[in-house]
Amino acid sequence: MKFKFNLKHFTLIISLIFAVSLSAQTNSKFKVTLDAGHGAHDFGATYHGYVEKNITLAIVLKVGKILEQDPGIQVQYTRNNDTFVDLVERANIANRADASLFVSIHCNANKNQEAYGSETYVMGLSKSASSLDVAKKENSVITLEADYKTKYAGYNPNSPESLISATIAQEENLEQSIELASKIQENFDVKLNRKDRGIHQAPFMVLHKAFMPRVLIETGFISNREEGAYLNSEEGQQNVAKAIADAIFRMKVEHFGGSMPTIEIKKSEKPVVKDSTQKTTTQEKPKETTKPGEVKAENKGIDSTKAVYKIQIKASAAKIELKPSNFNGLDNISFVSEKGYYKYMYGESNDYEIAKKQLQEVKARGYNSSFIVAFRKGVKITLNEALKQ
Ligand SMILES: [Zn+2]
Repeated sequence: MKFKFNLKHFTLIISLIFAVSLSAQTNSKFKVTLDAGHGAHDFGATYHGYVEKNITLAIVLKVGKILEQDPGIQVQYTRNNDTFVDLVERANIANRADASLFVSIHCNANKNQEAYGSETYVMGLSKSASSLDVAKKENSVITLEADYKTKYAGYNPNSPESLISATIAQEENLEQSIELASKIQENFDVKLNRKDRGIHQAPFMVLHKAFMPRVLIETGFISNREEGAYLNSEEGQQNVAKAIADAIFRMKVEHFGGSMPTIEIKKSEKPVVKDSTQKTTTQEKPKETTKPGEVKAENKGIDSTKAVYKIQIKASAAKIELKPSNFNGLDNISFVSEKGYYKYMYGESNDYEIAKKQLQEVKARGYNSSFIVAFRKGVKITLNEALKQ
């Protein structure tokens, strides 16, 4: 067929130009893909009348609504109604959108109905049996896909570790994933008064297939009657959504720019779940005399008017004595107190390259969830600000 230029082609070209400039415009947006776990015939966990697929969707839509108020943010949903989307497609939706962050939202469940609290996962190898169990449970949905044996050839749903050989290379993404996870867990703990079960690494199919900083949030246990009621309630979902949206905004501001909106979170005075055995650890009197914010200076020659890099290795509601035996043998530990939270950091340097080496050192000591933080004149600044110098 011979190509003849006519009006139809002209319109096509014009609309192509529009499409290109539009995509250039949307490229400058911070894109977040929100993934509501499960859907349709995949109910996820069900306990006491609480259904995981409904709770995850309700929370995701609330997170999206908050994020969408910022014109600088573009939100994609893997599902915005009760439909079935397979795990690989969920990740691919984020990949195709070139998302800056991928956030998958789930509810936990356990035969032990006493268990409660929230935890956030990043992709990785797990040494812990309970993390592998969570991954196994969330991955098991692939067996509901008709063609799963050919589609996931070589993958054994009972052995989530078999996912690991293929990826591991995404180091940069891992660091930012951990940073996002830590912001989420911190918000759950400090802003919502929820039990913080920490950040873990485990091989989740939905995380494995996505190529950007990404987390999977187990917002809480619906197998626990009190926490299930909270997660199933309008107020609980609203608060969880605000805590997640706030963490996403903080990631955006620190890595992408823009300003932080005010997200009012009504903190519950009492913990969502009362448990007498859990509350004793924070009551211990610390033996050492360092004040919050005081830095145990060991490195001389640090210029505090420039960016000072440290490695955050741990955050805790309890104060921990700064001796190496409490930190897997690491010395030169300092801490800051932020919103009732102690953040423990290793090392101190004006050189980002040194900080990166120190990050590897602490990971070798088992602090897999560590990340680099920056200060100037003792005040925390974003990595972006620090690196701009
Ligand atoms: Zn789930």
